[in-house]
Amino acid sequence: TGQDTVLDAAPVADAGGVQENYPALQCEQDLRRALERGGELELYYQPQFALGTLHITSFEALIRWNHPERGLVSPAEFLPVAERTRLIIPLSTWVLHEACRQLAVWLARPGGQHLRIAVNISPGYLHNGLLQRDVEAALVAAGLPGNRLELELTESSLLFDPARANELLGPLQAQGVRLALDDFGTGYSSIRHLRDFQVSNLKIDRSFVRQICVDVLDRRLVTALTALGHELGTSVVAEGAETMDAVACLREAGCDIVQGYALGRPMPAAAATSILGHEEMIKSEERAERERSQ
Ligand code: C2E
Ligand code: MG
Ligand code: MG
Ligand code: MG
Repeated sequence: TGQDTVLDAAPVADAGGVQENYPALQCEQDLRRALERGGELELYYQPQFALGTLHITSFEALIRWNHPERGLVSPAEFLPVAERTRLIIPLSTWVLHEACRQLAVWLARPGGQHLRIAVNISPGYLHNGLLQRDVEAALVAAGLPGNRLELELTESSLLFDPARANELLGPLQAQGVRLALDDFGTGYSSIRHLRDFQVSNLKIDRSFVRQICVDVLDRRLVTALTALGHELGTSVVAEGAETMDAVACLREAGCDIVQGYALGRPMPAAAATSILGHEEMIKSEERAERERSQ
């Protein structure tokens, strides 16, 4: 039916390009070709900042598709198609390898040793059973220890079959791989997942963050979720901080890490490399200043 073939092409922030409907079958064929030929998919990187220092702690890898005719296609358009077909598997394998490879480059830079990379893992990929093999291969190929990698899962991944998800993720966690619960607060049983999975980062969904300075209920909710996360030994990340006011309110609420347009949009690897260089320059000036004043 028409409904099955026409995607919900709601535009996603930051992925401009063409926004008319992209028929699923066409999308699938194009994506298959893109995965075979290479060169059209690209990872953007959005920095995450420690709220205390506003230094970069890690980058989240976010996929982009530079379609030869359609321009930049949003992941909201093609990920559902990839999920419904088996294309999510080669796509995810590529993302893991590329993200780990890029992080290894950043880790080798002066002052970059503390960085981590966060990779989004979709439900279809988690449950196909190839995740462990792919993660291990990507870490080995890049020469990374497990604790540099963070897997971002949404509730829908865990809800499907929590016991199985635990079996799949446990061996990776034993190697130091970290788990982040993405879009926290939008699902049905978040708190149970915090209890049952050893989550390193709780990522509060941006719907609670957007209005934090003006909506007192949002502010109380974020404060309470942060306290809950801390009680369970989890770092709390706020997604979608769009203004410096929001950043200040998030600090007030006790969050640990902030991500959002106010501090850094998703950007190509080269741009991320240059902000790392800039940050390192500022840090070394601060070090020199401290030494002079001693
Ligand atoms: P997500 O993992 O929750 O990623 C955050 C999304 O919010 C990103 O959209 C990011 O660009 C956007 N964002 C970040 N800061 C702000 C802000 O301050 N304001 C607003 N309005 N938006 C902000 P993006 O890159 O379009 O990705 C959308 C979703 O697609 C992601 O949500 C994730 O679920 C999925 N995704 C992206 N890349 C991958 C990937 O490589 N693999 C998989 N499986 N999923 C991916
Ligand atoms: Mg994410
Ligand atoms: Mg999210
Ligand atoms: Mg999201």
